[in-house]
Amino acid sequence: MSRRRQIYEGKAKILYEGPEPGTIIQYFKDDATAFNNQKKGTISGKGVINNRISEHVFTRLSHIGIPTHFIRRLNMREQLVRQCEIVPIEVVVRNVAAGSICKRLGLEEGEPLPHTLIEYCYKDDDLGDPLIGEEHIACFNWASHEEMQDISSMAIRINDFMCGMFAAIDIRLIDFKLEFGRIFDGDFSRIILADEISPDGCRLWDINSGEKLDKDRFRRDLGGEEGAYQEVARRLGLLENEDSTPGEVFDLSSHRSRLRGKPPPAK
Ligand code: UDP
Repeated sequence: MSRRRQIYEGKAKILYEGPEPGTIIQYFKDDATAFNNQKKGTISGKGVINNRISEHVFTRLSHIGIPTHFIRRLNMREQLVRQCEIVPIEVVVRNVAAGSICKRLGLEEGEPLPHTLIEYCYKDDDLGDPLIGEEHIACFNWASHEEMQDISSMAIRINDFMCGMFAAIDIRLIDFKLEFGRIFDGDFSRIILADEISPDGCRLWDINSGEKLDKDRFRRDLGGEEGAYQEVARRLGLLENEDSTPGEVFDLSSHRSRLRGKPPPAK
């Protein structure tokens, strides 16, 4: 395994050549970055949890007919995926105002948007992934009109499915980022969902407490990021948790204490 060829190292994942042509191995790291790489750190165990969460979400999306690059999980930190040509666009789906849109448009964080909004950013770290419109995508030929129709309709279906999936475990899906790729079959190509779906690229708030269960804990120095990622996995039924029952209200302070081996604070 150690002699396989590394293709690319990103901020949260390393890509290796897969065992068969047309396949790639995605290795999930614990590294975390924010604000276009200006803030760097690690979230212990994040790679293992994101690998599991992304496997779960991609598998469920394939069950509703969304074509994805996911083939199978190989081990704790790796999954086998189809090689594809990544479309250089980050697709951001928003249900509730948070993050960059609040600054850009002067919105209050937590304000529900009048309807679901899809935004596109040009994938370029040096430029800070600038917001673009469909006109830019067409002008620079980053994706065809037909590909954008597939991408936007898949993004809406994914959002509808994920809103329900998370609502069922008392999580509000605020926004998230998707990446798509193309796979070629002779002269034809088609769009598939690529990359990952995990608390690194989603905003997930507890429905009752409003507690953030995603990378904003790291971005905003809120602490408890390991516990928050674990909580999402636990509610999705992906983790055994001996001392809490499903549906129990998440208490980050007790969770943090438990992770550090201290008894939870008296209530
Ligand atoms: N996002 C991401 N990668 C990026 C930019 C955004 O995964 O490079 C996700 C982010 O986690 C959030 C959503 O896309 O769930 C919208 O992010 P936003 O534009 O508000 O940017 P941010 O506030 O994260 O800088």
